[in-house]
Amino acid sequence: MKKIEMKNPVVEMDGDEMTRVIWKWIKDILILPYVDLKTEYYDLGLKNRDITDDRVTVESAEATKKYGVAVKCATITPNAQRVEEYGLKEMWKSPNGTIRAILDGTVFRTPILVKGIDPYIPTWTKPITIARHAYGDIYKNTEARVKKGSKAELVITDEDGVETRKLIHDFTDTDGIVQGVHNTDKSIASFARSCFSFALERGETLWFAAKDTISKTYDHRFKDIFAEIFENEYKEKFAEAGIEYFYTLIDDVVARVIRSEGGFIWACKNYDGDVMSDMLATAYGSLGLMTSVLVSPSGAYEYEAAHGTVTRHYYQYLEGKKESTNPIATIFAWTGALRKRGELDGTPELCDFADKLERASVKTMEDGIMDKNLSLLSKLENKKIVYSEEFLHEIKERLDRMM
Ligand code: NAP
Ligand code: MG
Repeated sequence: MKKIEMKNPVVEMDGDEMTRVIWKWIKDILILPYVDLKTEYYDLGLKNRDITDDRVTVESAEATKKYGVAVKCATITPNAQRVEEYGLKEMWKSPNGTIRAILDGTVFRTPILVKGIDPYIPTWTKPITIARHAYGDIYKNTEARVKKGSKAELVITDEDGVETRKLIHDFTDTDGIVQGVHNTDKSIASFARSCFSFALERGETLWFAAKDTISKTYDHRFKDIFAEIFENEYKEKFAEAGIEYFYTLIDDVVARVIRSEGGFIWACKNYDGDVMSDMLATAYGSLGLMTSVLVSPSGAYEYEAAHGTVTRHYYQYLEGKKESTNPIATIFAWTGALRKRGELDGTPELCDFADKLERASVKTMEDGIMDKNLSLLSKLENKKIVYSEEFLHEIKERLDRMM
């Protein structure tokens, strides 16, 4: 069989631990036999981030801007224990945080639906994609405890040095707490554009919610920016695509999400997205089946699995024990990137390959073949628990039948 040609490379960001092991297996077993793979390789494994003083992370993000498509393996975000374990020069920042800051992007998470793994909400027959505005609000706050008898004010000094003051609270009879938060029109607008573009790409309606009835300036600004951008830049394209943009209050949207059948994109402010993404991941069943893509407003895409490096399984693997890790979300990171590359380059064979590999992956699980964690959730009658490498060979068998 002739291998599928690629015109342009995808940026490949290698990672850590169990996912790094699976990364290589996926390439060797499921991609390289079929695709004449072109990648620009960056090793984001913790050791190499340390050797390069984390420049490799910045370079991989710059390359993503240049080529437009990246696929990323899960990486360790070091804490004190990791600094010791790897003898690091520094407690390097989260690679995902660094890449997101450079691409100014929004992360969209979509679950993979598989027969036998039923969402906790029985009406959810389609995936709900959640987008989190990952800038500002309480994640960049300034806060303080306040002594009784103090007065807290909001002071804004403009560029001419003119001060505007607003009373936050007079703590006349008790101690208390205060918090200052901010966001920027620029970041909110970027977020809005990423969401509108992604909704068009998926052909799905976009929901956005805030609490503008209570927060009449702050949250209202989010609502207004979304409305202005929609009106001026996306309204007609949405009408042509037969999809809608819909704004409502955050508490109303929660009720609607639960009653829905899925099949839409839910844009969330930073805190709402933090909380609701965990709720959705759990309700859909498994972290091993959650995909993630970072979309920049300039149209660059970085695909990854939502889960981490699966440390516990890695240490089992190092001891020579066979581990049962689900490779599906990492496979879907690859298929997402290859399909996007195919769309951008006008190479439909590459898109077709990505579709087939996804179908083969889902078929494998629907045939009852899965990792241990998924088998605990699956309602299928006949299940076979496989180790990671066997899982990939089972997928390959089904893929070969489709090719
Ligand atoms: P994790 O790697 O997602 O794993 C948490 C647990 O979830 C695992 O121990 C395993 O449960 C289960 N699990 C996750 N993915 C699975 C899969 N594909 N197949 C089967 N089971 C799976 O999260 P963590 O243990 O909190 O973090 C480990 C490392 O990953 C940390 O160093 C963290 O910094 C990093 N991390 C990276 C990213 C990223 O790069 N995007 C995201 C999150 C975390 P059992 O142990 O019960 O089998
Ligand atoms: Mg969270």
